Amino acid sequence: MTKVVKFGGSSLASAVQFAKVGDIIRSDESRKYVVPSAPGKRNDKDIKVTDMLYSCYAAAEAGEEYKPKLKKIKDRFDSIINGLHLKTSLEQEFRTIAENFEQKAGVEYAASRGEYLNGIIMADYLGYTFIDAAEVIVFDDKGEFDAEKTDKVLSARLRKCDRAVIPGFYGAKKDGTVHTFSRGGSDITGSIVAKAAGADLYENWTDVSGFLIADPRIIQNPEVIQVITYRELRELSYMGATVLHEDAVFPVRKAGIPINIRNTNQPEDKGTLIVENTCHHSKFTITGIAGKKGFVAVNVDKDMMNSEVGFGRKVLSAFEQSGISFEHMPSGIDTMTVFVHQEEFEGKEQQVLSAINRLAKPDTVDLEADLALVAVVGRGMRSTRGTAGRIFSALSHANVNVKMIDQGSSELNIIIGVANNDFETAIKAIYDIFVTTQL
Ligand code: ASP
Repeated sequence: MTKVVKFGGSSLASAVQFAKVGDIIRSDESRKYVVPSAPGKRNDKDIKVTDMLYSCYAAAEAGEEYKPKLKKIKDRFDSIINGLHLKTSLEQEFRTIAENFEQKAGVEYAASRGEYLNGIIMADYLGYTFIDAAEVIVFDDKGEFDAEKTDKVLSARLRKCDRAVIPGFYGAKKDGTVHTFSRGGSDITGSIVAKAAGADLYENWTDVSGFLIADPRIIQNPEVIQVITYRELRELSYMGATVLHEDAVFPVRKAGIPINIRNTNQPEDKGTLIVENTCHHSKFTITGIAGKKGFVAVNVDKDMMNSEVGFGRKVLSAFEQSGISFEHMPSGIDTMTVFVHQEEFEGKEQQVLSAINRLAKPDTVDLEADLALVAVVGRGMRSTRGTAGRIFSALSHANVNVKMIDQGSSELNIIIGVANNDFETAIKAIYDIFVTTQL
């Protein structure tokens, strides 16, 4: 059995956290490949090492005094090394970094040093081999990740190494220039390594015990989702639930490797298992609730719309011409409504309206702003009668006016449009009816 384990920044923010990580890895010998992030925040007021590196490099590039900033970064690593009683010395590494900063090695090189140095410490601490991600994670000249080449190079390298640490977040282009993924990208590296290692499981260790059924800022102590499918996850993440970098799903999903989200501070918790398919029945009919505020509904009316071939296309092309993508489009016999992001729409509002009038010649167009969308997601809804009924009666008891309903044909989710002001109330009402009352 082989597991690839990725640890996030808060799991590696200090020597105390490192020690927890060490215990977790040593407690299961299948945890063979480790992907660390850079040290994150030790408390709310702290700064992530990656952010310190960005700011330090900006100073170096502007010809300002950057050495004190670099010293602070070195101090953070030294305090981890000392706290773990290691003999690792980063003196030479920091001399090289300073030289490269002066030679303007690039902001991505700078940002990547957090993971690189943390990887060196981690490898030393565990007695694992250190593999520089610049040698095994390949980007093309344009900076696009080269999955095929990476898989070839990385899997060949891992075959020669029983246990290794591969820093997250970066790789290199063919000419050797360091290139990073977007922020939070160590999740992606973990997934790539899991695929290349042919792992049985990709464990992603963070500071929460998995995905929560609803946003904890709205629901106090929400239940954790035990098992979720990739498709459900996509629906929830799209609607704002974040734990994992969106792009981290692709490599493992293709290879049929499940992801387990775990909590470094509570390793006894099982966390959330993300899988392609499952017969596992969720304790509740729904898997999760998420949502976003800030939508506008554009209602277009025209008598006999139903028999006018091409009407929908004309309306949508008005949005397309202004580069606006739509979120949902419920329609009736003589009306259609297009939901768009308020922020995106506001600047182009008149342009879109005149295009609709010109192209589709509707009877009326009216706008309703300040709307929110709530997504109730669950693979269990398909086989359970009355889910929609329960949602809407809960909303009506909570005095929430429903402005729009959209159920995808997959029966994986029901999307409900409400006023921004009703957003939190709606989520509470749905959570209560499906979760609180079932506990
Ligand atoms: N250290 C990088 C960041 O702060 C990448 C990561 O942690 O995944 O975004």
